Amino acid sequence: MTETHLFEPAAPLPSDASVLVVGAGLAGLRTAALLREHGHAGPVHLVGEEPHAAYDRPPLSKHLLDDGWHVDLGEDLGIDLRALDVDALLGTRVTRIDIDGEQFRAALVPTGSDGTDDELVVDAVVLATGSRARTVPGWEHALTLHTHDDAVRLRALLGGRERPRLVCIGAGWIGSEVAGVAAAAGADVTVVEAAPFPLASALGSDGALVAPWFAAAGVTLLTETAVAAVEPDGVILTDGRRFDADVVLAAVGARPAPLPDGSLTGMLATMFDGDVVVDSGMRPLAVGEVPDGLDLGSLSTADPYVTATSGPLARVRVVGDAAVRVSHRGLVRSGHWDAALTTPDLAVRALLDPTAVLADPVPYVFSTMLGHEVAMFGERPSGTVPVLRGDPAGDEGWAALWFVGEGPSSGEASSTEPSGTDLPDAELPDAGALHDPDSLHDAGATHEASATHDDGLRALAGILVVDRPRDVAAARRLFRAPSLPRLDPVRAADPTLPLR
Ligand SMILES: Cc1cc2nc3c(=O)[nH]c(=O)nc-3n(C[C@H](O)[C@H](O)[C@H](O)COP(=O)(O)OP(=O)(O)OC[C@H]3O[C@@H](n4cnc5c(N)ncnc54)[C@H](O)[C@@H]3O)c2cc1C
Repeated sequence: MTETHLFEPAAPLPSDASVLVVGAGLAGLRTAALLREHGHAGPVHLVGEEPHAAYDRPPLSKHLLDDGWHVDLGEDLGIDLRALDVDALLGTRVTRIDIDGEQFRAALVPTGSDGTDDELVVDAVVLATGSRARTVPGWEHALTLHTHDDAVRLRALLGGRERPRLVCIGAGWIGSEVAGVAAAAGADVTVVEAAPFPLASALGSDGALVAPWFAAAGVTLLTETAVAAVEPDGVILTDGRRFDADVVLAAVGARPAPLPDGSLTGMLATMFDGDVVVDSGMRPLAVGEVPDGLDLGSLSTADPYVTATSGPLARVRVVGDAAVRVSHRGLVRSGHWDAALTTPDLAVRALLDPTAVLADPVPYVFSTMLGHEVAMFGERPSGTVPVLRGDPAGDEGWAALWFVGEGPSSGEASSTEPSGTDLPDAELPDAGALHDPDSLHDAGATHEASATHDDGLRALAGILVVDRPRDVAAARRLFRAPSLPRLDPVRAADPTLPLR
């Protein structure tokens, strides 16, 4: 495999170098553990602003109302920070990071206080600052769900009433999950979604396939319905209707957490709402670093994008929800659990050995919602018609496969594409013309569309698997290769045949 070095590779991080990991969620915890796993001997500081040891976020929505809601990630992943000699500082926020010669100077403040700043001077920095629930000005009476403390609040309000009325704003992943568990526990649940379909950010108009799940689970779903105001005891819609509610949950997506101030973060190229643009080794690109006219997406699919310079950013990495990665699949935004698990491995390998050949993980999201097990690999190119494998109305499970270059579905106007509930609306990168932001949804299309062969095989851009665990395993295998898998759509549509 050849490597495309846009700049000279950096030197490996010395084994005794000190590393600051900012953010003690899944990505931060994994980074600290992987540094040790890969033999790094220098001091590792893991600083997290939440007071809790790293916990898993997916159970917060799926097990909101049962005993499985709090999962300690250290225990779950078998990571013992003390045994790994990691200096874990919880309840502490990193407020600034400045470049100081060959090192970085970080200011630390106890969360929620104006207390005296502490300082750490380190040789390398990994930003694992994750994301936050998106909030909407004027919706102060609505709760959000991102943290342990959010879940405690929501549990108390929903659990403390006989038949609570819940209005969920947003039918994305989290809104749909919470709606399902609340309805199953006896709540009266209404989901209000501005887009024409649930899960519109991920599935576009194919969200229609999952719309019947809401009524089947006892949830009222109102699509193409916007909220004008959130009041202490209900919501008012733009069409004038009012829904009384004991609890209003705003589940309208996540945004990257604000980065610490200072000269380091001032250098970073960001897009969307602050996702840091990184290379295949999770090294951030600097503002203006990508030469004008260079189309990263046109590089050969076999080439990892290595942009390591000898400057300060060679010793900086950004992992998990905070990053959007330049890859041959297009710009791959993290935003999901699997990316927080896998991107630290890319970062640590590249930091310790800048010549390491790295994987290019495909986007993967899982969910349990409204009585269904869902897994999605790759992405749905906008405007394609899915090949269905099995019957979405049946009980046997099914899958939707999106092949590259399949024509637009009849009547699918661009207005039916998502305005976005879980992913940020695509906006131009503020780092200059990095990429057409649509490439996030057209990932792979630029490389594969022209590769239509007459062997009957088509490039598969994405697959949604519902209640078919065997197909999940097959899809995982198919998407492991660096280029898009090629399948016969006719064969793939037959649920009695293995997926391959
Ligand atoms: C309710 C819920 C359910 C989910 N369910 C699924 C699912 O089913 N499937 C799926 O694929 N994904 C799911 N996700 C998404 C997944 O959990 C996230 O992608 C993952 O947790 C991201 O991990 P992270 O470590 O990058 O960021 P985070 O988990 O956001 O952690 C970042 C940490 O950094 C801290 N921090 C931020 N700034 C600073 C600073 N300046 N100083 C110190 N600390 C700082 C934050 O407080 C936070 O603790 C879910 C998310 C939520 C909220």
